Amino acid sequence: MDSIGVIGSGTMGRGIAQAAALAGYEVILYDIEESILAAARAAICGSIDKGVARGKTAAAVAARAKVALHLTTSLAGMAPAGIIIEAAPEILGLKRQIFAELDDLLPPATILASNTSSLSISALAGSTSRPDRFLGLHFFNPAHIMKLVEVIRAEDTSHATIAIADAFVARLGKTAVHCQDTPAFIVNRVARPFYGEAFRLLGENAAGVADIDRLMKSIGFPMGPFELVDLIGCDVNYAVTQAVYEAYFQEPKYRPHPIQQRMVESGHLGRKTGRGFYRYE
Ligand code: NAD
Repeated sequence: MDSIGVIGSGTMGRGIAQAAALAGYEVILYDIEESILAAARAAICGSIDKGVARGKTAAAVAARAKVALHLTTSLAGMAPAGIIIEAAPEILGLKRQIFAELDDLLPPATILASNTSSLSISALAGSTSRPDRFLGLHFFNPAHIMKLVEVIRAEDTSHATIAIADAFVARLGKTAVHCQDTPAFIVNRVARPFYGEAFRLLGENAAGVADIDRLMKSIGFPMGPFELVDLIGCDVNYAVTQAVYEAYFQEPKYRPHPIQQRMVESGHLGRKTGRGFYRYE
């Protein structure tokens, strides 16, 4: 398998595409508009150049990776790819529709994977006729740097599919952790109180954003909860919180906080909009 596809060229799609291009794959990156893809290419090339400047990437590897990046607004353009990784917005109906279309358009052997943070992999697989060749591949942000990838087995995922996914993750230089299709998988499940209690503290005026972040970092976390939500995207974090809450039948400990809703409705989505809990120039 020499070619992979990535659906969605936002925060995660860009990082996954960059990691795969640097690992020697041909990468076909899909989004709904040419202008979005052009911005993604510029961001990916800029990030690759930074790697060269810092001495982390050889100039020849960087040059090859840039040429290996192909952009398309046609799902049919994904046909040469052996694995497709979907990183579209965290909306079940939208993702199911994308996978149903891919299933119709692509050869039967193509493996389909979702980078969803919280939705059921089995529910996504059910929109296709190839649940044995469907799995979750959950990368972490920033995807071209973070080593961990959760490899999620859905109800009908075959052993052969998991083996191919493991080989793909290894070629990216990343570490695969296997898990079952449980809501939010492992890392996001464990992280729920990290965000949830920070929102509650803020809502109760117990401390401000910067103080909570500073205190969490003082005990060893690399980022505070609000810095991390700004990096993830307030919209993505809110969508994941809602999905986990619903997946656990409205278990109170997973309930979203009104602050999350307010941030999203006011358009303050974090780094990607220049303003979230902090401002970014
Ligand atoms: P994002 O909003 O940054 O990017 C989403 C991209 O999808 C955009 O480029 C958008 O144009 C594109 N898109 C919109 N409609 C589409 C469609 N119909 N078909 C294809 N693409 C479409 O979101 P993101 O943060 O990259 O998140 C993408 C997925 O990755 C989500 O499922 C999210 O839960 C998951 N995820 C996010 C993070 C994170 O930290 N942001 C971490 C791990 C997993």
